Amino acid sequence: MKLTQGKINELLSESACEHNHKKEGKGKNKSCTQVAQPGAAQGGCAFDGAMIALVPITDAAHLVHGPIACAGNSWGSRGSLSSGSMLYKMGFTTDLSENDVIFGGEKKLYKAILEVKERYNPAAVFVYSTCVTALIGDDLDAVCQKAAEKTGTPVIPVNSPGFIGSKNLGNRVGGESLLEYVVGTREPETTTPYDINLIGEYNIAGELWGVLPLFEKLGIRVLSQITGDGRYENIACSHRAKLNVMICSKALINMARKMEERYGIPYVEESFYGVADMNRCLRNIAAKIGDADLQQRVEQLIIEETLKLDTALAPYRARLKGKRVVLYTGGVKSWSIISAAKDLGMEVCATSTKKSTEEDKARIKELLGQDGIMMEKGNAQELLRVIAQTKADMLIAGGRNQYTALKAKIPFLDINQERHHPYAGYVGMVEMARELEEALYSPVWAQVRKPAPWDTEVI
Ligand code: SF4
Repeated sequence: MKLTQGKINELLSESACEHNHKKEGKGKNKSCTQVAQPGAAQGGCAFDGAMIALVPITDAAHLVHGPIACAGNSWGSRGSLSSGSMLYKMGFTTDLSENDVIFGGEKKLYKAILEVKERYNPAAVFVYSTCVTALIGDDLDAVCQKAAEKTGTPVIPVNSPGFIGSKNLGNRVGGESLLEYVVGTREPETTTPYDINLIGEYNIAGELWGVLPLFEKLGIRVLSQITGDGRYENIACSHRAKLNVMICSKALINMARKMEERYGIPYVEESFYGVADMNRCLRNIAAKIGDADLQQRVEQLIIEETLKLDTALAPYRARLKGKRVVLYTGGVKSWSIISAAKDLGMEVCATSTKKSTEEDKARIKELLGQDGIMMEKGNAQELLRVIAQTKADMLIAGGRNQYTALKAKIPFLDINQERHHPYAGYVGMVEMARELEEALYSPVWAQVRKPAPWDTEVI
């Protein structure tokens, strides 16, 4: 896939993404197509975004064509787990030197692909370009094609130099590579009317494993996981699914929309967090598949799971009831975690809306009520101000905000991609309740909040 300005603009102004519409729903939001400003890649460049989206394909080798720091800085940033091959965890890079910058890195890349194939025999090799290799003009597509012919293994070019923009744009670049080189290249052995794809679910901390048994119980087959704990072969067959279920709504929305256009697969946007959202997800899937029997099975499963959950959550609900929370995250989680916290009897007094769409904001408003604060800006200072104003008991946010919570002397729960505990599905609710309770009632807070000895000692 050649990366042209037209392609970048197309991905930035993805028509299915609500971010790209003006508030009134008419026309485009200009900011989405603006060229990336210096500093836009802080917190993740486009290369990082493409890696994040594709590395969870576990039986593939992911080879970074660039200086070693690009691979080193992005390695392992998302805790996606695998139930099989661990090849995706191995870091491969061409480790460009000054000489390669002067004379070109194509030969080195070609040799590296052959070596990866010979030593590891992967299901496919994904090759990522970086700022340096894009600037020196290495032809990634041509090298990948030649190496694929030589090895007989799919070699997928991912044109994702960091300078083109943010991590979100990189996610979509990754999705485009899957669409162009992978989806539709193989045929599944069998198909059923209950085949679905999960798009944008990355199996962080093994979350997917708490949800897959539910689908199995209901007779829904997950044909391919794009990309958490994903297999190359399954993704290649994903064009035969009857429904695409998007989990991290906007990251790979270009894939869902284009698969609808090309293969007629409808898509729904769902969340696995919280009882209400999990119930809604199963109901919507059954309704979209349009099978009355399946809908009945879903209702039965919801009754059973709710009963089990009520028993498991009772001790936690008693201790979490009425605790006030400030939530600082993005996208779907900005409203789905509110719903999960409410299920536990907690009160979310503020949430961030920086990365939320108009649709997300409407849901947040409904869930937060009149007094809830929606934070448009996001920095440590603003968070500390809101925590003090709302007298919050806890901050739920991404890892880098834990120091803000420490400054405010309140407990913290990591909810973003670096988290180590699975919170999805019904079993994830119990895990989340346990983590919240442990954080809130940790004896360390009594110590931390004590005045320092030099403040109390009388001299
Ligand atoms: S791709 Fe570019 S912006 Fe991203 S890590 Fe490498 S050099 Fe930095």
